[in-house]
Amino acid sequence: MSERPLAAAAGGATGIFDQDLLDRCISCGFCLPACPTYKLTGDEASSPRGRITLMRALATGSLDADDATLREQSSFCLGCRACEPVCPAGVQYGQLLEQWRVHQWRGRRRPVLARLLTLAAGRRWALRVLGRVRGAAHWRPDRTGTASQPPASPAAGSPPASAGAPAGPQLMLGCFERGLFPGVSRAAAGLVPDACVPTDQGCCGALHAHNGDLAGAERLARELGDALPGRIVTTSGGCAAHLSGVLGRDRVVELSEYLAGGSFGEVRVDGRRARVALQDSCHLRNGMDVWREPRKLLRQVADYVELPSAAACCGAAGTYALLRPKDSRRVLDPKLDEIEAAGIDYLVVVNPGCQRQLIGGLRRRRSRVRVLHIAELLAMAGES
Ligand code: SF4
Ligand code: SF4
Repeated sequence: MSERPLAAAAGGATGIFDQDLLDRCISCGFCLPACPTYKLTGDEASSPRGRITLMRALATGSLDADDATLREQSSFCLGCRACEPVCPAGVQYGQLLEQWRVHQWRGRRRPVLARLLTLAAGRRWALRVLGRVRGAAHWRPDRTGTASQPPASPAAGSPPASAGAPAGPQLMLGCFERGLFPGVSRAAAGLVPDACVPTDQGCCGALHAHNGDLAGAERLARELGDALPGRIVTTSGGCAAHLSGVLGRDRVVELSEYLAGGSFGEVRVDGRRARVALQDSCHLRNGMDVWREPRKLLRQVADYVELPSAAACCGAAGTYALLRPKDSRRVLDPKLDEIEAAGIDYLVVVNPGCQRQLIGGLRRRRSRVRVLHIAELLAMAGES
């Protein structure tokens, strides 16, 4: 994925969309079976093709942003980008959705919760408070008592660092992850022992991009890129996809990509190898084509079970679970059935939003399956 000028792309001939992106759709409908919201409703308007038709109507002025269907569909879409890999015309739906929401969620139409969350994520003081509430915005890998071990060999095939950048990678903490799941950051720091871990780092802007603030999204990503010079390792699929879209693919590497050449021990439960399954991160898989790497690592440390819907959205979708909780659960529930039927010990995630969503869902069902980030599972496996 090459660097793209996010804010500039939101201009274009119509003033709303990049016309070239909008023109690419040939209305073939190949994307319909991949779309979770179309699966829920069977309604063309809830499909990628239907939404692109709505965007075209907005672009030409046949519908305006107050139209009820436009309002509903711009919000009902998960932004999971499952429609992109299956599209024969190369439609970059994720970019179109971001541009749509800039216009659609302008002023009073922007959900209040989205406004509050993006405000908090963009403020370093709020991130510090979040971390302190959990007692671990900062950490010292040598003082945490984390049982993690570094991988036995450095990552093979990781993207090269930029010229003139520090030799070691920079570990990105993730603004909500450091507050909600500080153990993930600690485990990742143990797995990448040569990483620099600046504690005063801001938000990457992914939340802003998905919630109608593309200019803020680009500014925050560039500021973070300046604060973390060279190659950036991230534990969040959503952040990785956004950051690489702004800074360039060669600057950003997701943790399982980075560790793909490493050698690990194994995780055991009751004297046997653990059984684990993976929930993909939508943006990591559909935006960066990273899905083989975490599976390869999991097969190394445990008995891996592929869930039928591992690649499909869990309903977390950034702020979606907060903005549309009922729809989020409708997307999640069939996946929880699958997880409980799979006879696994751990469900592994590569994104903190998925972690929050799946922990909540499995807890409501009193399931015995535990949800772990891949950094936590690999830390448990230790060095081989
Ligand atoms: S988005 Fe792609 S797959 Fe879907 S209708 Fe348009 S061209 Fe076909
Ligand atoms: S982003 Fe996901 S929910 Fe939205 S149209 Fe594409 S496949 Fe459907």
